[in-house]
Amino acid sequence: MTTAPVRADETSVFPRLLDHAYPSVERGDGVRLYLTDGREVLDACSGGAMVACLGHGVREIVEAGAAQAEKLAYVYNHHFTNEPQERLAGRLLEVAAPEMARVRFVSGGSEANETMLRLARQYHVDRGDTERWRVVSPAQAYHGATMGTLALTGRHGLQHPFEEYLAPHRHVPPSTERLDPRGEGALEELDRIVAEVGSSTIAAFVCEPVSAAALPGYSPPDSFWHGLAERRERYGFLVCFDEIVTGMGRTGSWFAYQQLPIEPDVVSAGKGLGAGYAPLAAVLCRQHVYDALAEGSREFEHGHTWDGAPLPCAVGLAVLDQLVDRGLVDRVRERGPSLRDELEAAVAEVGLAGEVRGRGFLLGVELVDPRDGASPLPRDLDVAELVDDVALARGVLVTSSHTSQDGLVADQTLLAPAYTSGDSDLAEMIERFASALREVQAHVEERLE
Ligand code: PMP
Repeated sequence: MTTAPVRADETSVFPRLLDHAYPSVERGDGVRLYLTDGREVLDACSGGAMVACLGHGVREIVEAGAAQAEKLAYVYNHHFTNEPQERLAGRLLEVAAPEMARVRFVSGGSEANETMLRLARQYHVDRGDTERWRVVSPAQAYHGATMGTLALTGRHGLQHPFEEYLAPHRHVPPSTERLDPRGEGALEELDRIVAEVGSSTIAAFVCEPVSAAALPGYSPPDSFWHGLAERRERYGFLVCFDEIVTGMGRTGSWFAYQQLPIEPDVVSAGKGLGAGYAPLAAVLCRQHVYDALAEGSREFEHGHTWDGAPLPCAVGLAVLDQLVDRGLVDRVRERGPSLRDELEAAVAEVGLAGEVRGRGFLLGVELVDPRDGASPLPRDLDVAELVDDVALARGVLVTSSHTSQDGLVADQTLLAPAYTSGDSDLAEMIERFASALREVQAHVEERLE
């Protein structure tokens, strides 16, 4: 039986957009999604949120989850530890992040970044540096939906109308090729903020080492990272990386920081850690961060009900096994550059496509005014939504963001296929996406006349 897309007035669910008709997905297999209306969609975005990095329906992971659920699905971290949590923490430090010393598990990216914030604050308090609370972070970013993490971006489009709930952290502009190619503007702004509020009030610099939806595939130039490392020494703040998307191989190394000339003090990971088979995220920290608490209060009081529970951690172990046994991080590293080139070539003739960025299997296309190939398009064209809708109608799932409303960059489309995608799947994703962009461009040109 086929079922049509679902509208808000036909459902008990409270959807994001009340005027949108949401297609319903019945099942997934590899990089294909099968909708209840009979359509088949190629998943170029790992379920839509850069999560299902191994594709859908991986039997070994399902079986590992089922076996753990039969044995013990849940106990609370307040009272117990458990074997899957202990083993996953150990394996992560051994395989993925040998630079780090300790792991705290949570259920999602926002929870992980909240935990990162609390850890940064607790680190300073335990060292007697009690004035440090403020965070400086790039404005063009996304760190989560909770009030704590929403305050870490400078994106008014996301923060309105919740401004009253948000801590007054400070932000630096993105060092894009167009705005600030050497990263000097961002570093100068950081120095200016420090001069204004005092370095003794700053707890952390938080950022995505490679941006996800906020500016897909973008990373500041090396000169910025060198400048940031030097300021960490000078001003005494921690460097915290949000690797909710980039952790677990997405950019071609286990963590994106492993490709950068700076090592974070604290790092979060999510999405690919549970790969869509369980809600799972984590915060990892270096030894000196752990030592501050070990030699201080000896307590890290912060927790959510599902932190480190056996079921999601057993799934995380099975995901890690897949990544290791199938050499998937190497595949992403080796295939990423040509994938970016293929995407760039496919959209080269489409004036709507501006800059094409790519790091591993995290790719971004800027959606610009075809008349000058650089400016953001007018808001009322809704180009981000249009691209996603047309792409879906042409059988490929991509995720676009309305970043132009924040006033810093144009709208963006993100592609983040599963690491397991075959070459012919990748070629088909790119082809369908490019044809969708051509269709949207024709529509945009008509509207701009
Ligand atoms: N950080 C980044 C970079 C993200 O992309 C996301 C989710 N899109 C989050 C944090 C928040 O994660 P979650 O939605 O799981 O809370």
